[in-house]
Amino acid sequence: MLVLGTGTSHGVPMIGCECDTCRSTDPRDKRSRASILIQPDGGPSVLVDTTPDLRMQALTHGVKRVDAIVYTHSHADHVMGLDEVRRFNAMQKSAIPCYADERTLNDLKRIYSYIFASDAPRGGGIPQVVLARIAGEFCVGPATFTPVPVMHGSRQIFGYRVGSFAYLTDCSGIPDESWPLLSGVKTLVLDALRVRPHPTHLSVDQALAVVARVKPERAWFTHMCHDLPHAATCAQLPAGVQLAYDGLTFEIDL
Ligand SMILES: [Zn+2]
Ligand SMILES: [Zn+2]
Ligand SMILES: [Zn+2]
Repeated sequence: MLVLGTGTSHGVPMIGCECDTCRSTDPRDKRSRASILIQPDGGPSVLVDTTPDLRMQALTHGVKRVDAIVYTHSHADHVMGLDEVRRFNAMQKSAIPCYADERTLNDLKRIYSYIFASDAPRGGGIPQVVLARIAGEFCVGPATFTPVPVMHGSRQIFGYRVGSFAYLTDCSGIPDESWPLLSGVKTLVLDALRVRPHPTHLSVDQALAVVARVKPERAWFTHMCHDLPHAATCAQLPAGVQLAYDGLTFEIDL
């Protein structure tokens, strides 16, 4: 498992900001937009979301394969890098399946009409992707993905569980029916935007309450804004809970 990006929609540093976090020289305070790559040994690599930073994330971390893409939702910070997958198409000589809920698929077709419109010119300049609507669990190689409905403001989007790992980015609340899907999760990556409450994201205290209920062995927070400097925030978090950072890797059980 490789964490490609841990920043909120603006990224950190934020354009034009002179705050201590945005000017920090700690590399863990440089947060590209939120994304992860699941890389089972010898199995297919699954990218969760295609952020506007996908090109630099792939170059920085040496990502050379993407066998499938799984979307959480269609906000700009999670979809605007889809055009970058042309390089993976070229290297792999194949189209890439993209799994998403119906609303996200519809938004992708609208945003990327040059890919999906029937009159779009065909050729090497267009990403080759195959859209797949999620209807329950699905498998990519050895990994079974269980969609976990979470609330992102008033919108229900998907987090995902894979084995004993769960990834819940862009989450402001967990519906009653989703808690059982998180039972037995050992490693949790969870939205924690900032200390102050926010209408569409968990605050640090709200995220800690989710951690206390799920009781994973370890939890990593993601989708942070510049209000949370890495070292100082981590020093205040309880044992087993840390801020994730771009480039973090860890093992998960499929
Ligand atoms: Zn987001
Ligand atoms: Zn700042
Ligand atoms: Zn969002």
